[in-house]
Amino acid sequence: MSNLGEKILVVEDDMQIRNFICYSLQTEGYQLTTSNTGHGALSALVSEQIDLMLLDLGLPDFDGIEVIKKVREWSEMPIIVVSARDQDKEKATALDLGADDYLTKPFSATELLARIRVALRHLYKLSGNKQQTSIQIGDLKIELDKRLVFLNGAQVHMTPMEYSLLVLLFKNAGKVLTTSYIIKEIWGIGYGNDTQALRALMAGLRRKIETYPAKPRYIMTEIGVGYRLVNE
Ligand code: CA
Repeated sequence: MSNLGEKILVVEDDMQIRNFICYSLQTEGYQLTTSNTGHGALSALVSEQIDLMLLDLGLPDFDGIEVIKKVREWSEMPIIVVSARDQDKEKATALDLGADDYLTKPFSATELLARIRVALRHLYKLSGNKQQTSIQIGDLKIELDKRLVFLNGAQVHMTPMEYSLLVLLFKNAGKVLTTSYIIKEIWGIGYGNDTQALRALMAGLRRKIETYPAKPRYIMTEIGVGYRLVNE
């Protein structure tokens, strides 16, 4: 067992999905608390020590989005949203409000566990403040102190914008970043939703780091939501 027995709050009103999630998590040694409503989730969060929340967006009493808003007023705990396939807009809203990631139904136990591991790892990284000087994923390496990027050991020349985008993705490897979040981080507030500029910047970056830009190995497009750098 690779985890530390973290306690996960599972908020899901569909009994079958809830049972599936609980079974998958229990076999990995996680502790569990469950709720089938938004109210139940909030009361569990104030009365128990929860390390991560898995949150269904469609709840019987109120929207999962409202749960995220409330929780983010007082906690930075990882939140992974669980949603139906046709809820792209809700997914992006949830992420912009501070959810860490999302899973689209139906999902596998492997996928669920991988997302939980990534979210918990980010949590520990936040609490420890070790300063990293270089980061590497696959054959891609960034030397943060020198602002240099290498692919297979050869230096890749980047524009300052491409570099900022790549560092942002690296620092959030494995997590999906919404288009509007990336725009805000790269261009600043006030640029609204200039997705055209981001798409152009992304295309330029992919040409430099991907062998087949149309079939990316590093930067995946999350349709209708944003982008995710793979986390090998
Ligand atoms: Ca539901």
